[in-house]
Amino acid sequence: MVNYLLKITAELENLTNLQPQGGCDDPNFSYLFKVKCGRCGEVSQKETCVTLSETVALPAGKATTNLMQKCKFCGRDGTITMIPGQGKPLTDEASQAGKYAPLMQFDCRGYEPLEYIEGTKFDDIDLSAGEFSEYDEKGECPVMISNLRSTFDVVK
Ligand SMILES: [Zn+2]
Repeated sequence: MVNYLLKITAELENLTNLQPQGGCDDPNFSYLFKVKCGRCGEVSQKETCVTLSETVALPAGKATTNLMQKCKFCGRDGTITMIPGQGKPLTDEASQAGKYAPLMQFDCRGYEPLEYIEGTKFDDIDLSAGEFSEYDEKGECPVMISNLRSTFDVVK
């Protein structure tokens, strides 16, 4: 069993505590990424979307998972189960130190998660282009997020 911890970092200007809208464990926040089949190595064409509020029952036992998907190439079944409670907002200090903030842990069976598709909403910010800039009228300063990077750390 291998778990993967999704972590992100970005350059923040006049902004701190970057996290998904509603928090890392927001039941309706969708995490998008591509997966690689553990048997044949085929990389999915389409990104996979997992959301805490969406679960499917596993055929055996009482457990549930967040995604069950069959590899289009070799037909092997794989599952991805989200493990909440690991997320931390990316602070200005961590960003400046080049540190990554954890978002969500995934228990992946049969699949390996690849590139995280940045995007959807971080605190009302659309990061689908990988960067964002705006002028904060209240604080009278430019707000900027750039160079967003993500990584999947293997957790044993
Ligand atoms: Zn396969």
